[in-house]
Amino acid sequence: MNPPITVPLDECPIIIEDDRTGLSIETIRRALLDNLYYVQGKTPQTATKNDFYMALAYTVRDRLLKRWLSTQLTYRKTPVKTVSYLSAEFLLGPHLINNLISLNLYDPFKKAIEESGLNFQELVDQEEEPGLGNGGLGRLAACYMDSLATLEIPAIGYGIRYEFGIFDQEIKDGWQVEITDKWLQYGNPWEIARPEFAQLVKFGGYTESYYDQDHIYRVRWVPRYTVNGIPYDTPILGYRVNTANTLRLWKAEASESFNFERFNVGDYYGAVRDKVACETISKVLYPNDEQIQGKELRLEQQFFFVSCSLQDMIRIHLNKNASLDNFHEMWSIQLNDTHPAIGVAELMRLLLDENNYDWDTAWNITKNTFAYTNHTLLPEALEKWPLNIFGRMLPRHLEIIYAINHRFLDEVRIHYPNDVSKLACLSIIDETGEKYVRMAHLACVGSFAINGVAALHTELLKSDVLRDFYELYPEKFSNKTNGVTPRRWMVLSNPRMSFTICEKIGDSWIKNLDDLRQLEGYAEDGGFRNYWQQIKKEVKQDLANYIQAKLDIKVDPHSLFDVQVKRIHEYKRQHLNVLNIVTLYNRIKNNPNLDVTPRTFIFGGKAAPGYFMAKLIIKLINSVADVVNNDPVICDRIKVIFLPDYNVTFGQRVYPAADISEQISTAGKEASGTGNMKFSLNGALTIGTLDGANVEIRESVGAENFFLFGLTTEEVYAIRANRYTPRDYYNSDEELKAVLDLISTGFFSHGDPNLFRPIVDNLLYSDPYMLLADYRSYVDAQDAVGCAYRDQDHWGRMSILNVARMGKFSSDRSIKDYCNDIWKTKPFAIDVPEYMQSQAMLKV
Ligand SMILES: *Cc1c(COP(=O)(O)O)cnc(C)c1O
Repeated sequence: MNPPITVPLDECPIIIEDDRTGLSIETIRRALLDNLYYVQGKTPQTATKNDFYMALAYTVRDRLLKRWLSTQLTYRKTPVKTVSYLSAEFLLGPHLINNLISLNLYDPFKKAIEESGLNFQELVDQEEEPGLGNGGLGRLAACYMDSLATLEIPAIGYGIRYEFGIFDQEIKDGWQVEITDKWLQYGNPWEIARPEFAQLVKFGGYTESYYDQDHIYRVRWVPRYTVNGIPYDTPILGYRVNTANTLRLWKAEASESFNFERFNVGDYYGAVRDKVACETISKVLYPNDEQIQGKELRLEQQFFFVSCSLQDMIRIHLNKNASLDNFHEMWSIQLNDTHPAIGVAELMRLLLDENNYDWDTAWNITKNTFAYTNHTLLPEALEKWPLNIFGRMLPRHLEIIYAINHRFLDEVRIHYPNDVSKLACLSIIDETGEKYVRMAHLACVGSFAINGVAALHTELLKSDVLRDFYELYPEKFSNKTNGVTPRRWMVLSNPRMSFTICEKIGDSWIKNLDDLRQLEGYAEDGGFRNYWQQIKKEVKQDLANYIQAKLDIKVDPHSLFDVQVKRIHEYKRQHLNVLNIVTLYNRIKNNPNLDVTPRTFIFGGKAAPGYFMAKLIIKLINSVADVVNNDPVICDRIKVIFLPDYNVTFGQRVYPAADISEQISTAGKEASGTGNMKFSLNGALTIGTLDGANVEIRESVGAENFFLFGLTTEEVYAIRANRYTPRDYYNSDEELKAVLDLISTGFFSHGDPNLFRPIVDNLLYSDPYMLLADYRSYVDAQDAVGCAYRDQDHWGRMSILNVARMGKFSSDRSIKDYCNDIWKTKPFAIDVPEYMQSQAMLKV
């Protein structure tokens, strides 16, 4: 920060603050008008709400730039090891409030806006969130960027600047409708284009070999076309520190030389058409979560951003090092799933072909640079590319992969002299039918570390999904349980609860989440429990108001808020939740005076546009909602709400308002989950299976503060091994039978028995995610939830204990684990200005 300019005048100094950096209310107000006038080109009389938002955003940005530039300058002149986080997705959520909180400038900005006669919340709501991800994986990348900066770790995030992020979801007649996400249409004040650091990326064509001047055999790649990658940088501030790291996202543009020939023969239209084709690479995010889209464009996207990023790292490296010999000592590249795994072959190519390294040196650098995080246990989500597509687009990389595989299989042969079956299992090339490149195998072979994202997940990787690799390289494997940032997911999204916690134990927990443990004592304080529940009620009232405004449905904040928000997927079992709702409905219909705990069931989540069953589940939820919400016999005792367009902004409203968190995936299917953590950190209790990080959450908060149900992973495997027959459960459980029969008759589909037949038939005759096997256990656990909620005092105790014992699930803890065990990186502090150290908390 610039120090205020002090002008001595008589005895009394006058402080003149710089408009770009000053922090007094008066200066912020003046700076806002200045940015409105000089950046937006508007006066207050003609400015739209969005103009005011933009001026506000620039006024905040002005105040973080010094931090960002000094951080980058410091990194440039210091030989520090840097973490490079490669991810095809970053699901960031809005920046404005997050930056204000990090800078400790929330209060003065709110005040300045209000004193200017503007509505602060209205301006904040103008921000379009960058929805550059599908769900948990992309959101994890965003939390990790926050923690890396807060922990002062030199790091850079690399990804794709999709012009259209995850689609906006509307619900029409109960069905999902997808709308393009035009998040850039009014401009993005948080990014700065750096065309001077553009990178060229090659595609297609062929390779040819030659002997260089030293008579060494070399290969050159002659591409069919090249694409230009333009970096757009966004600062990622740490919380109350001076570190601001960079998120660098690449946009694809046509390269200059590209259309030379077409222009020369006068084919202007053809040239422009090709230019447009190039730019489609970064046009849109593939909206599939946990299922691959084997499209060429997707592979183009992956290679495009990985090649840009590696070339950029090499450029940065050679600015401060004599050669690439020590590349692996200065960089750790984390692969967020296999989406960037092509990086293994691309770094080899850059070292071999463009920097003249010999194979062994290049391979040593490469395999000591990459580390791979696996994110899935679903076989259909393991990426593999048909060999013909791969070879046509990346001919040189296919050669390099064959060479890597050749050497790797030699190693396997020595390890297992008499076991040829191992070769087929481990090979990077799948040759069992149509040939494929297995990206997870490439990542395992080319990395020095491999990790899962929860303890159970890592164990299942070792015993199942990557068993053969674990046998070969046990030392590469470790667990890194996911975490979430308490800055966005507590302080920002739940200021009421955060303030309540600060009043009791101070604010150290925001950076050291284990300090929440000090709340445990207050769980025994009846007055505090009462206050805690009162705060929760206020937060629920906020969500109730939002639901009223959005959907024109009235919900009672005294009812139990039962929430399931996440991508819609059969393995996540939103339809199991529906089976419980219909069970309750039947019970009340059979006994209208039944004394049930009033509940509001809230759903949210997007379905992949091509995923028929997921879309039908959304329709089912809405159809059940229609009947239940309007049945006079139910009389508002249960309400079902599907809130459209679940995204980060909506998550910030809903996690804090939940009483019960639904984490009901089939055991052995959810790698970790992070929604489960956000709920529990906001005082919701979990109803869940022993899946993903639920296992560790339950261990942490105590089994008595968690509603467990369902089969264990071992039981799931055992039942499958003995041929699972879902019909047996249907035949032997009256309530289950009544529920499925009611749906089958068309009761929720205006008499149409066919509409939901695919769901019912799937459950009765196949049920791959074993809903029927878990149904009874789930419904009983839900009954226990309903009972427990009636004792508000005890519920309050459990809620406080959940928060107090969740410290482990901070993404700060995850990042420290990665730093210590995998990256071997240390914090590198940048000086902190005094005002940043103030204890002031944001006001509600
Ligand atoms: C946290 C989060 C997720 C992940 O939720 P899970 O319940 O772990 O699947 C997905 N989408 C958004 C917007 C999130 O904030």
